[in-house]
Order: sequence, then structure tokens, then C-alpha cells
Amino acid sequence: ELVVDAGRVTYDDVTFSYDDDPILEDVRFTAEGGDTLALVGPTGAGKSTALKLLLRMYDVDSGSITVDGRDVRDVTLTSLRGAIGYVSQETFLFYGTVRENITYGTFDASDEDVVAAAKAAEAHEFVTNLPDGYDTMVGERGVKLSGGQRQRLAIARAMLKDPELLILDEATSDVDTETEMLIQRSLDRLTADRTTFVIAHRLSTVKDADRIVVLEDGRVAERGTHEDL
Ligand code: ATP
Ligand code: MG
Repeated sequence: ELVVDAGRVTYDDVTFSYDDDPILEDVRFTAEGGDTLALVGPTGAGKSTALKLLLRMYDVDSGSITVDGRDVRDVTLTSLRGAIGYVSQETFLFYGTVRENITYGTFDASDEDVVAAAKAAEAHEFVTNLPDGYDTMVGERGVKLSGGQRQRLAIARAMLKDPELLILDEATSDVDTETEMLIQRSLDRLTADRTTFVIAHRLSTVKDADRIVVLEDGRVAERGTHEDL
């Protein structure tokens, strides 16, 4: 059982390949508890892969990933994944109500909790304008939502889950400036006071990160703050 205390995450000489091609080589970095660490680099550099190893969708070939000193391979998958929130650009919505999509992964949420999470995610307003509000069916056969709306539902879901660790994979999608501002504001609320990994292509999108790790071709090419780099 993983019990997250400070929420310090350390990659120590992590090496990984899907097949024979090495994808990550001797990758090391540490995210201090509560900090935001940005993983930046070109497409194919291995950014998403690195964080899939934290979720244990795959296991490292050598090296280790620890959370507060505990190797992720030594804890139950349920407790590990229960401690991690994951927001990706391609937001997964299933065919169900808005409420069900927000509470997915949380078991004891009241209606007030759902609304509070949606408000913090800047989603409450558009949800109340849907035909059936929180009972509107979304997903494949339901009401079509925009990318920015789907993303805010994913943020609401993560907000409700309130995980100790958070992964944001390419969190800024192709949205207008106002939506981007809403998303940024909700992300700021979501990332406050929890260890967060942000994945981005460009340095400019992660200027507020406590530390930045630049991955190139599976290796750490540079590291520092936005000012250093
Ligand atoms: P992007 O910025 O485009 O999201 P990334 O840095 O996240 O890129 P990864 O998705 O980690 O890159 O992919 C790193 C490398 O691993 C790529 O060469 C990719 O083709 C390969 N790869 C990713 N997933 C798999 C998989 N499931 N099986 C085999 N190879 C994979
Ligand atoms: Mg990726």
C-alpha cells in the first residue's frame, strides 16, 4: 500500500525500451513534494513514456522510480494509481452523464462535491447550459463537447479525485484565448500544493514550473528553471 506523505518523486537512472530501441536512457530527476516539474522536448523524445512508467503502465528495464522513497514496483497498483491524477489532451469521456464522467474514479462524491469541482475547473457554467445540466449524456453517442470543454471536465474529474500526484500531458489544446485562460486558471487551482508533472513541447508554456527537465532522444539534455534555460 502506497501512502503518499511529502509526495517526492525520484527517477534514478531509468532506462526503458518498448522493444529493442532504447526510449529512455539513464534518466534521473526529482520532483520535490508539492512542486511542479515540467518535462519538455520534441515529439518522440519519451516524455509520455517517462510518466507512463510512474503509472506503471510499463516497468523500467533498469533504475527505479520512487515515491517518498518507495519503489513503485513495491506497492499495490490500486494504491499507486489511486494517488495519481491524469489529465491528457485527448480526454476520455465515456457514454454517460456529465456527473458520471466527473465522478469516474471517485466513489463517495456528493452532488455538492461535483459542483464544487466543476466550478473550480471553470466547467460549471457550460454544464448548466447543457440541455439536462449535469444529467446530460456525453461521450460518443451523447452531446458533442468541444476540446476545451472536454478538457475542463477532465480537470473537474481530477479535482474531485484530489490526488497527491498529478500528470498533465500536453495540457494546452487548440482553444481560443479566453478558453485557454479559463483552463489555465483551473489548472493553477488543480496543481497547487500537489506534486505535478507537466508535459509540453515548448519551454514557453511551462515558465511557472519549479523545475524543467529537457528530454531529447530519451536522455536528459538540460535541466533548470525557466530563467536558467
Ligand atoms: P510527443 O511529444 O509527440 O507526445 P513523447 O515525447 O511523449 O512525444 P513518447 O510517446 O514517449 O514521446 O514516445 C517515445 C518513443 O517511443 C517514440 O519513438 C514512440 O514511437 C515510441 N513509442 C511510444 N509508445 C510506444 C508503444 N506503445 N510501443 C512501441 N513504441 C512506442
Ligand atoms: Mg507524449
